[in-house]
Amino acid sequence: MQMYCVKCRAKRDANEVEEVTMKNGKKAMKGKCSVCGTGMYKIGAKPTM
Ligand SMILES: [Zn+2]
Repeated sequence: MQMYCVKCRAKRDANEVEEVTMKNGKKAMKGKCSVCGTGMYKIGAKPTM
């Protein structure tokens, strides 16, 4: 899954993607940048699988 990495400042493929629910009840996708390992979040995204 592609997410925006704030460290690379580019879209990267995310590893270990999982769906998480935030405190406000909204769903988000969480993953790790495949290049630098920074945590990435994609808020409001639906799992596209
Ligand atoms: Zn990165």
